[in-house]
Amino acid sequence: MIDIKSYDLTELEEEIISIGEKKFRAKQLYEWMHVRMARDFDEMTNLSKEFREKCKERYTYTSLQAIRVQESAIDGTRKFLFELADGNVVESVWMKYKFGNSVCISSQVGCRMGCRFCASTLDGLERCLLPSEMLDQIYAITRITGERVSNVVVMGTGEPMDNYENLLKFITLLTDKNGLNISQRNITVSTCGIVPRMRQLADEKLQITLALSLHATTDEKRRRLMPIANKYNLRELMETCAYYFDKTGRRITFEYSLVGGVNDTKEDAEQLIELVKPLHCHVNLIPVNPIEERDFVESGKHEVQEFKNKLEKNKINVTIRREMGRDIDGACGQLRRRHKCEV
Ligand code: SAH
Repeated sequence: MIDIKSYDLTELEEEIISIGEKKFRAKQLYEWMHVRMARDFDEMTNLSKEFREKCKERYTYTSLQAIRVQESAIDGTRKFLFELADGNVVESVWMKYKFGNSVCISSQVGCRMGCRFCASTLDGLERCLLPSEMLDQIYAITRITGERVSNVVVMGTGEPMDNYENLLKFITLLTDKNGLNISQRNITVSTCGIVPRMRQLADEKLQITLALSLHATTDEKRRRLMPIANKYNLRELMETCAYYFDKTGRRITFEYSLVGGVNDTKEDAEQLIELVKPLHCHVNLIPVNPIEERDFVESGKHEVQEFKNKLEKNKINVTIRREMGRDIDGACGQLRRRHKCEV
């Protein structure tokens, strides 16, 4: 069956015409799905019952069910666990900032990248998410909170560059002026560094922000934290980041999770400066969120501040990520994993 919510308007018009309906029906249907965020065909009350039945026979309608919601007592961050049609679950996070509401979505069920500090990857990859399943995380959260989402980060479970075609379709739908119409500049996609896909993305010349999970400043150290580093070395990665900036004019964000005693020393900071200085970039320091299954510890407050100061002294644009929702399994994949252990 056709996954109707993953169709763009042109595809939808062709489809609707092919089943003998008038073209304007496609626009109505599209609006119900992507503007009014209907949960099913039956909510689309200005479409005839006959047309709705026809749709039900032919199309699957992605609509995620929230099966668990946790709200942080500290900062109001909410974490949602959603069930997909096949029974798999994914998690998404809703964060309130001064500039608006931001949602962090998952791009896959599980992940096969194997980063050592990350909970999402512990059981490997189950499957990729469809464009409609990425979108509906945002739609479902909008329906539940009643508030508009202005920023989207693809930083939840999964490696977006390992689900490239669906990611692009998702971005097309999310930024469509006939849909939610979120600006490309308000979208961030985070990758562990799959070089050929990053180049491909650069060639798309989108205005989205690309975030690279760097986490180490030598190949040797990076390989210990991230298996993907065995495939692409830092030199290639940095060249690719420069290429991304050349093509898009968008500065790269480097994510650097600080792990106590592993990558947070003075030398690490110095090496990081050397590495990123030639690039137009922004460095986001993230105190590692310790997960039960690994024995990494976060860096001390003092070390984090020292690290930041050093970068700043060298005129590197740097921020420390505000820790949101630490009391509600904030780190990638923790809630989904807990759920799996419980059932
Ligand atoms: N696969 C993509 C996006 C998902 S992870 C990527 O690797 O970028 C989002 C970010 O959170 C990445 O920078 C990832 O390295 C980081 N991360 C994962 N687990 C973490 C943890 N326990 N503590 C701190 N950061 C973590």
